[in-house]
Amino acid sequence: MSNNNPKTIELPVSITVRELAQQTQSSPIQVIKILMSNGVMANINQTIDFDTAAIVASELGFEAHMQMPEIIEEKETGEIPLWRQLIANEDESKLTPRPPVVTILGHVDHGKTTLLDAIRHTNVAGGEAGGITQHIGAYQVELKGRSITFLDTPGHAAFTAMRARGAQGADIVVLVVAANDGVMPQTREAIAHAKAARVPIIVALNKIDLDGANPDYVKRQLSENGLVPDEWDGDTMVVPVSAKQKIGIEDLLEAILLVADSINIRANPNGRVIGTVIESKIDRAKGVVATLLVQNGTLEMGDVVLAGNAYGRVRAMFDHRGRKLRKAGPSTPALIMGLNDVPDAGDLFQVVPTEKEARILVEERKAAAQQQQTIAKVSLEELFNRFQSGEVKELRLILKVDVQGSLEPIVNSLNDLNKGDIKINVLHAETGNISENDVMLAAASKAIILGFNVQADTPARRLAEAEGISIRLYQIIYRMIEDIEKALKGMLMPEFKEVVIGRAEVQTVFHISKVGDIAGCRVVQGEIRRNGKIRLLRAGQVIYEGEISSLKHEKDDVREVRQGFDCGISLKNHSNFSAGDIIECYVLEKNSLL
Ligand code: GDP
Repeated sequence: MSNNNPKTIELPVSITVRELAQQTQSSPIQVIKILMSNGVMANINQTIDFDTAAIVASELGFEAHMQMPEIIEEKETGEIPLWRQLIANEDESKLTPRPPVVTILGHVDHGKTTLLDAIRHTNVAGGEAGGITQHIGAYQVELKGRSITFLDTPGHAAFTAMRARGAQGADIVVLVVAANDGVMPQTREAIAHAKAARVPIIVALNKIDLDGANPDYVKRQLSENGLVPDEWDGDTMVVPVSAKQKIGIEDLLEAILLVADSINIRANPNGRVIGTVIESKIDRAKGVVATLLVQNGTLEMGDVVLAGNAYGRVRAMFDHRGRKLRKAGPSTPALIMGLNDVPDAGDLFQVVPTEKEARILVEERKAAAQQQQTIAKVSLEELFNRFQSGEVKELRLILKVDVQGSLEPIVNSLNDLNKGDIKINVLHAETGNISENDVMLAAASKAIILGFNVQADTPARRLAEAEGISIRLYQIIYRMIEDIEKALKGMLMPEFKEVVIGRAEVQTVFHISKVGDIAGCRVVQGEIRRNGKIRLLRAGQVIYEGEISSLKHEKDDVREVRQGFDCGISLKNHSNFSAGDIIECYVLEKNSLL
């Protein structure tokens, strides 16, 4: 019997007849009868699925909802990565040391790939040199019975995406700097990434075998960039190496273990299973294969993994040498098979109770993503709101300028604003145009980008638009400072600028009774939009500013007319035209992206 006013009840993904009877405060016989009347023969200990149980429940006057496991949703906090927060919430007594996870960053050609290879080959699993290793995006080496995990991403398609998050997935950054080349733009960028993610840096001073190597010069440069070598009483370990000749590799590994000891790298191997997707692809023979880095808990064969919008039961699991794994504990990279789809590099993964729950969660995620297609914008105004509400603790800036000489005064002026509870953090300041890398850094660290006398290149603009990152360009220093000051005081109004999108030239004038004069025009540049703003120019002088009241192409009302086409334009509250007049169409764009 269905009820008009059902009570709600939470039921699991599957339930026995006995439990269902208990939950619905009815007798097992009653439940069995309802099942039978629906064509399901079941005894008291049999398990039925949620959908069937829901039908029974509804006949007993209950509206059933599925009990969902508590899952972890990735929120873009821009602060501490989620897996770290989770570990921080674990019971202190259950935490045990885990291997450090290391990522290698540095300028192109400084030797990242060579160093990763050197480490892999000289030190695979306790000195079994030359073992056949597979590229799975991460590998582990051993030194004196202790393991170190390396993320190994250069050259991979997901590399760029990973790098924005790369430093955040790692405990330690090894910064490769060629001793003959010194600190270069990508070196500085890597420093900024690591600082933003609050990850300690060890410098591998590479290519010391070369004649042109000048370690002292490079150390001075490093100091200027905030990395003072420990031999100069700073706290950055600088290890001279030659990746090519395999010199100093053990020293580097020892330095990594030393730093690891000083920062207490731990996890709960028996806790909630969570980690990060390192990479993933479809293999023709094996289906979806994904490398997962376990960060807490222990991943086991048969577990159901939910990773981004992909899920599935772990059917097979391998280490980086192709050996079968049954379990993967904290800091272990594992290649798994069994996902139904390819998750993105950098996605969080977790273990959930059943595939059914995983499927429902993915459907919910997809629906939510569709609904909320607007991206959380990192505009200055938005950041300020979050700053005020305590959501962000500081205003993070990335600064690009045209010449070295303007860097210092601008950074100093920005830092001068840093008084009282207002916090400004210039993450990265450099000469050169705004590039995709700057936007990625901004996205990873929730920063905005300020440009002084520079441009944003097209890929950078596109990425900024997609990621909702604010780029603000200035030609006058005090305007920039003023804006930031205003932003900090919450007074910044979005600026608008005019962008001319087209011009039409008046060819003839038609007079139509009741309607008035209509300008017969040809679009000579760009396009004229019906809802654009209009300026009418005669001999270079503006004689009218306002809006279009009608735009026609031939006899039809149209929304826009492009260059080379004729159109009829009439204006709101203006009908004085003469041949040769120019009608300029412009739009107002919010200044934050330009
Ligand atoms: P990446 O772009 O940072 O990954 O740099 P690679 O590892 O591809 O190295 C760039 C070039 O530098 C290659 O030609 C390497 O052989 C060379 N290289 C790397 N490490 C060393 C080193 O320690 N000594 C010398 N002499 N050359 C090196």
